[in-house]
Amino acid sequence: MSEPLLVVISGPSGSGKSTVEARILAEMPGLLFSVSHTTREPRSGEENGRDYFFVAEAKFRDLISQGAFLEWAEVHEKLYGTSLAELERARLEGKDLVLDIDVQGAAQIKKAYPGAVTIFLRPPSVAVLTDRLRGRASDTAEVVAVRIKNATGEIQRASEFRHVVVNDHLDATVDTVKRIIETERAQKRS
Ligand code: ADP
Ligand code: 5GP
Repeated sequence: MSEPLLVVISGPSGSGKSTVEARILAEMPGLLFSVSHTTREPRSGEENGRDYFFVAEAKFRDLISQGAFLEWAEVHEKLYGTSLAELERARLEGKDLVLDIDVQGAAQIKKAYPGAVTIFLRPPSVAVLTDRLRGRASDTAEVVAVRIKNATGEIQRASEFRHVVVNDHLDATVDTVKRIIETERAQKRS
């Protein structure tokens, strides 16, 4: 059984990661979404165990001390982490794993798994990002402000990624990301 390909998708909040991931997971066979743990509150419509495992900070800290995480980081004042169990699930199901993680988590994965495919989704501009974050209407104004404040620093780290995709038109972005995964899968096999 071959090891799963790790497909890391990062980008500032509102760059379109969840939207693009939902499309590629629906349209490409053999992909599994890595369900992270987080200490942030669920947004309306989010489901525990499907979008995230929502846990209290004490539980998250216990998991860190148990060595349960492949990587974890503090992002926008909350804790987020990928459990080793998600990689194991991909191995058992014989699928490639899609990780929606921040730039700090991506750096940790790159170090531990040099074969990981790293994709940075960029918004066309910070102004467009701001509009999309406000338009999503899922966060309070304070939460949106923190995310916009952090976006510039995150965008500056785009060059650490193997692929940078500007998410202007959604269909074009989805096609590009699918093509990247297909190419990386073919290279891994050869
Ligand atoms: P992220 O997961 O990176 O935080 P989302 O996928 O939630 O971002 O996208 C933020 C908002 O922008 C959502 O309302 C989504 O529908 C919208 N969006 C995503 N991609 C595009 C696009 N290419 N053009 C216009 N709106 C988009
Ligand atoms: P959101 O709260 O919008 O779902 O996610 C906020 C940020 O946390 C995004 O940049 C997202 O990629 C990141 N994130 C989600 N899960 C993880 C994780 O398991 N590890 C790390 N390092 N970042 C994560």
